[in-house]
Amino acid sequence: MPADAGSCAPRPDPRPDPRRAIPRTDALLADPRFAAAAQRVGSTAVKAAIREAQDEARRGTIAPHEVGDRAAAALDARLGQATTLRAVVNATGVVLHTNLGRAALSPAARAAMALAGGPCDVEFDLADGRRARRGRGTLTALAGELPPGTGTLVVNNGAAAIALVAAALAVTPGRPEIVVSRGELVEIGDGFRIPELLEATGARLREVGTTNRTHVADYEGAIGPRTGFVLKVHPSNFRVSGFTSTVAITDLAAVCARAAVPLVADLGSGLLTPDPLLPAEPDATSALRAGAQLVTCSCDKLLGGPQGGLVLGEPDLVERVRRHPLARAVRVDKTTLAALEATLRGGATPTHRSLHTDADSLRARADRLAAALARLGVDGEVVTSDGAVGGGCAPGVALPGCAVALPQGWAAPLRSEAVVGRLEAGRLLLDVRCVPDAEVDILAQRVAEVARTMTGTG
Ligand SMILES: *Cc1c(COP(=O)(O)O)cnc(C)c1O
Repeated sequence: MPADAGSCAPRPDPRPDPRRAIPRTDALLADPRFAAAAQRVGSTAVKAAIREAQDEARRGTIAPHEVGDRAAAALDARLGQATTLRAVVNATGVVLHTNLGRAALSPAARAAMALAGGPCDVEFDLADGRRARRGRGTLTALAGELPPGTGTLVVNNGAAAIALVAAALAVTPGRPEIVVSRGELVEIGDGFRIPELLEATGARLREVGTTNRTHVADYEGAIGPRTGFVLKVHPSNFRVSGFTSTVAITDLAAVCARAAVPLVADLGSGLLTPDPLLPAEPDATSALRAGAQLVTCSCDKLLGGPQGGLVLGEPDLVERVRRHPLARAVRVDKTTLAALEATLRGGATPTHRSLHTDADSLRARADRLAAALARLGVDGEVVTSDGAVGGGCAPGVALPGCAVALPQGWAAPLRSEAVVGRLEAGRLLLDVRCVPDAEVDILAQRVAEVARTMTGTG
């Protein structure tokens, strides 16, 4: 006989008192939402949220049937406050905005991260109860995107990937020189420079060529018994034009093969296969096919995943890098592995969508935003707006799109509502490229909120 038999079928009351319809605390606590919340914030907080919602129903400010939802919403808000980070609407038009955390993760990647937050079989085999290869699902997914037989390693970020390769292939084996073109000595951002990063590992740079021109013979003249490897760095965040010349990976691969030294290509952006929208961005598959023995790149740029770095290529070289003592210092967390796998298996990422949404769809989205604003009493003009890839990728590539223009003075109050737009020619542009269709109304409401405080009518 069920424990609560007899208590769950109230007799109809001829004069119902709405307060009697307020759900009881113990009934609400049986709701799985609150059981889950109790695990996260504790049962005292859950009971307090329920009591407050019940009080609101007694006062008549919400209907009795809304008590559960109200308490759940209050608990969700409380959970959100456990971090001082605020979720923002990226209305800058910059797809990989470094200061907004680069790539936005797909819903699948976010869910995978949440799952992996608990105990999970990241390096455990549930079938035989033994230790298993850490992150094997992620590595398999990665290998599936690359030429057959490619070795894979995931580390903390792109910088860690290059530093680890320098340590494992140059410093530790006692061939400390890394041969690199003077045209490829890149500062990544915030004052960090790849040459200094490499030297910090104990490696020495053997610079060849000039800023604008480097030839095959320059490399040939520099390779010797002290060469650990030849490094080709994609100058991802700047372009040199005019009287220039660089050596393609294919030609460099031939030089390296003759001298029996590895060729490493640091690609930065993390495309695994070519993207026709960005013809100048190198990709890992093409670089490996062209003869690079190792490729390093980031996971949170064009790959569209969590912060991470990849070392890809010849399995025995990847294994040497993986076995280096420093690898442990830059290994990735289980939540990163989970998010990366979900990114790879989950189809188009938000990064890909933001890059590839066509101009007509962006115009329609901007029209929708302007119309929603008009309904809320805010005048905004739809204008064309050039977005950018960002994250130091594809410099100079303009992504034609649309924005809603507002007076510049709206920028600061909108930021306090966690809306970040772009200032251009004395106006604030809310570029819709990175605002998913589902968030257009939320954006409109936040703008209307600001409008009320600015006109003092709220
Ligand atoms: C971005 C970038 C890096 C650094 O990668 P992080 O993931 O930011 O550490 C290294 N090399 C190139 C060419 C890059 O574009």
